[in-house]
Amino acid sequence: MKHALAFLLLLLAALCRAAEYTPADVPNVQTADSRRFVSNPDGILDAETEYRLNVRLDSLRRRTTAEAAVVVLESIGEQDIESFANELFARWGIGKKENDNGLLVLFVLDRRQIRFETGYGLEGILPDALCKRIQMQQMLPAFRQGDYAGGLLAGVEQICRVVENPDHRDEVAAPAADTAGEMLFLVKMYFGLSLLFSLVMLLMLRPARSGETADERYRELEAHLPSLRLMAILFPVFNLLTFFGVHRRLHRLRNAPRRCESCGSPLRKLDEDEDNRYLTPQEDAEETVQSVDYDVWLCDACGITEVHAYPNKKSQYTRCPRCGARTYAFESDRTLVVATPFRAGQGEKIFRCRHCGYEAHEPYIIPRVVVAPIIVGGRGRGGGFGGGISGGSFGGGLSGGGGATSGW
Ligand SMILES: [Zn+2]
Ligand SMILES: [Zn+2]
Repeated sequence: MKHALAFLLLLLAALCRAAEYTPADVPNVQTADSRRFVSNPDGILDAETEYRLNVRLDSLRRRTTAEAAVVVLESIGEQDIESFANELFARWGIGKKENDNGLLVLFVLDRRQIRFETGYGLEGILPDALCKRIQMQQMLPAFRQGDYAGGLLAGVEQICRVVENPDHRDEVAAPAADTAGEMLFLVKMYFGLSLLFSLVMLLMLRPARSGETADERYRELEAHLPSLRLMAILFPVFNLLTFFGVHRRLHRLRNAPRRCESCGSPLRKLDEDEDNRYLTPQEDAEETVQSVDYDVWLCDACGITEVHAYPNKKSQYTRCPRCGARTYAFESDRTLVVATPFRAGQGEKIFRCRHCGYEAHEPYIIPRVVVAPIIVGGRGRGGGFGGGISGGSFGGGLSGGGGATSGW
C-alpha cells in the first residue's frame, strides 16, 4: 500500500512536470534522422510547418554547411532562457566543429519568449542587433496573433537568407567545403609528377653507350624494373606505355647480335632444346623448374659457347644449401601432433632440392584449437525501430553566447 502511494505521488509529480523541459530532456531529432532540425515535442507546431522548416534547414546545411536547430517547447519552468539555450546548444554541438557555424532558435510558449543563440562562426554575419531585428520584424507580430507557425517560418526564412547571402559564403562555410580546390591541386600535382616520371623512364630507354655490351645494358635496365613497375602502377596514365617500351627494349638487348671473343665471328643463339647439351646438370635442373633461364650462344667457327643466365625473379625456388642450384623450395607440410582445445600441436614443413634431393625439415607449433562460444540470440547495440532512416548529428559546434531574446 505504502509502495503504491509513493508510486502514485511520483507519477503525479512526473505528470505535473511533463511539459517542463531541462536541456537534457529536449529530444534531439537530428540523431534520429539527419534530415530533421525541428524539435517540437509538445506538438505546438503542426506537421506541415515542421516539415517545411526541416526542408528549409536541410537545404541551408547542404548549401552552406551551416546548421540551425529550431526547438519549440511548452515550458522550461523557472529556468533562464539564455542559459537554457546556451546549455542546449553546447549539449547538441550545433554547427560544424571547424568554424562553429551553428544557430539555435528556441521558442518557449508559456514565457512568450523567442531566443536565438549563435555559434562563434555566425556572430559576424548574424550580430545580436540583426537577430533582434529579425525577431521584432518577422516573428513577434505573428506570435502576438497566436500564429506561431507563421512567425517561425518567416524568421527562419530571414535567417537562412542572411546565411545564404553569397557575400557571406567564405565566412559561413566550414573549411571542408574547400576540398574542390585541394582536389584540383592534387590532380595537377599527379599529372605533373606522372609526366616527370615518364620522362625519366624514357631517358632509361636510351641506346647502349659505346663500349657497353648489350648484356651490360640489359642488366642495368633490368635492375630498374621493380621501380619502373611501381611507377607504372602509381602513374598509369603515361607510364604504362613506357613500361611496355622498357620490356620491349630488354627483349631486343637480350637478342642483340653478339660476336665471339676469341675469333670475332658472329655468335648464334641456340634454341631451348639445342642449348641443353651445353648446360651443366645444375643449370639444366634450374631451367626445368624455371628458376633461371639460360641463353647459350655458340661460335660455329671455333666452337666456343657463351652462357647467359636470366634469373626468374618471380620463382619461389631459392639456392640449395648443399649443391647451390636454384632449385630448393617448400615441398610439403605435415602434422605430427594434432592440436586440441587442451594442448598445442606440432607440424613440420619439408623443403627439398629438385637437383640433388637434399631435404630439410622445419618444425613449427600448431596453436591450440579455440572453440568459439555459441551465441544465443545476440542483441545488437541500441537496436530500435525501423531502419531506413539514417541518423545524424550536429557537427560539434560551440556557441559564442551571442544572439538575442525577445518577448511578446
Ligand atoms: Zn669463335
Ligand atoms: Zn641441391
